[in-house]
Amino acid sequence: MIVQKFGGTSVEDAAAMNAAIRIIERERSRTPLVVLSAIGGATNTLLGAARVAQNGRFDEATRVLNDLLERHVLILENLLDSRSRIQRILLDIRRRFEELKHLCQGIALLGELTDRSLDTVASYGERLSTAIMAETMDERGLPAVLIDARTFMITDDRFTAARPLFDELDARLKESVAPYVSAGKIVVTQGFIGSTRKGVTTTLGRGGSDYSASIIGAALNAEEIQIWTDVDGVLTADPRICPDARQLGVISFREASELAYFGARVLHPSTILPAVRKNIPVRVLNSRRPDRPGTLITANPPKSNVAVKSIASKKGITVINIQSTRMLMAYGFLEKIFSVFNRYQTPVDLVTTSEVAVSVTIDNKDRLEEIAADLAEVGEVAVYDRKGIVCIVGEQMHATAGVADRVFRALGDINVVMISQGASEVNMSLVLNEEDIVEAVRRLHYEFFPTPTAGRVAETASHEVTS
Ligand code: ADP
Ligand code: ASP
Ligand code: MG
Repeated sequence: MIVQKFGGTSVEDAAAMNAAIRIIERERSRTPLVVLSAIGGATNTLLGAARVAQNGRFDEATRVLNDLLERHVLILENLLDSRSRIQRILLDIRRRFEELKHLCQGIALLGELTDRSLDTVASYGERLSTAIMAETMDERGLPAVLIDARTFMITDDRFTAARPLFDELDARLKESVAPYVSAGKIVVTQGFIGSTRKGVTTTLGRGGSDYSASIIGAALNAEEIQIWTDVDGVLTADPRICPDARQLGVISFREASELAYFGARVLHPSTILPAVRKNIPVRVLNSRRPDRPGTLITANPPKSNVAVKSIASKKGITVINIQSTRMLMAYGFLEKIFSVFNRYQTPVDLVTTSEVAVSVTIDNKDRLEEIAADLAEVGEVAVYDRKGIVCIVGEQMHATAGVADRVFRALGDINVVMISQGASEVNMSLVLNEEDIVEAVRRLHYEFFPTPTAGRVAETASHEVTS
């Protein structure tokens, strides 16, 4: 079997859903299991409705939800032929929007919006897209079976960023999903959403459908995990920053993990982990151009003759510097520092040390005050906000002389706050001021990928630079 995951733009309207169904049909002989995102923009809309409700603007929430309902109605009317099917699913969809309005009303009355409520509201997006897709596949004679992901994707209760409980969900997938796959059915399920053991709805965090796909693929020993999206594959940079970014034919699990972790949105940061565990190839493909080969992500790709494969970046980074003369020659210092981050469950991305100081970066500032207060017991603490990370990735980088020199020459007058050459040696990460990130990525891209190769240029015309 294979897993096929379709992102928001790949199911954004009736035409996109039709294209997705053709892609699924093409792979029929490999028994695809289909993981869907909400229709493009739906998650933002749902979360937005909950937020305006919290601010007491229930009327606005209702208006926003009505627009979203109309989008779904339009899709299903353009997809389905049978009037009775349309009527049945229309009723179901209207009922769900009534539920959503009740939820928003509750939020507005209380003036309170918990992460738990956010997850419940967000989950409707994926539940709606999959309901429409499964019904359409069924009408077209495909053996579709819709399975609610909350029956198997068991997570902890960290709402909005829930972590999968692998033993439990593996067992449930094998028990309740695998039999359908073995019987040749095309299982359709939601990405992104899950449930606690007690049955409370959770989500895996924004962009989490990729992660759902790889978790399911690993549990069911898929031959391949396909991530269908709106670009030709993994590119040499974010096409919204570098419109001439080029598609990569094949990259390693390690390269893909670093890129995803350091901001290449095309893959959720955790996507690669389950695939690595079972050594399952991941393919990133363009649902608008399904005949293109996409990017293959695998354990041991053929040795590349280029040092740098791709450049990723992320903003919203905070640098914390801890200085202490007591550190000189002292052991246990790093342990003390990391125990603070542990205590507040805040992951550290980059670390550099000198004799008297340690600098770390974090991208989750929720517990910053408490962290700084606790670190102050170890040394003098300085916090620098509004930083970003640029991450240059390539397996061959460590074996190639002069990469760092080229990086610094390309950056020119851009100030580098911190440098970390990953221990894994597939990446070099630079911390910069946030406002320099876009320009730095462009300069580095121009240095390492100067002339676009005809025919290999990703489709990017519609992308705009966001900063
Ligand atoms: P989906 O809805 O299919 O999950 P996403 O918007 O989450 O799609 O991810 C695809 C987007 O990721 C692309 O449109 C592109 O703008 C962005 N992106 C960022 N970095 C890269 C990269 N290195 N390669 C490809 N796409 C990238
Ligand atoms: N729909 C969710 C989001 O927009 C999950 C996903 O698309 O991967 O974040
Ligand atoms: Mg995504």
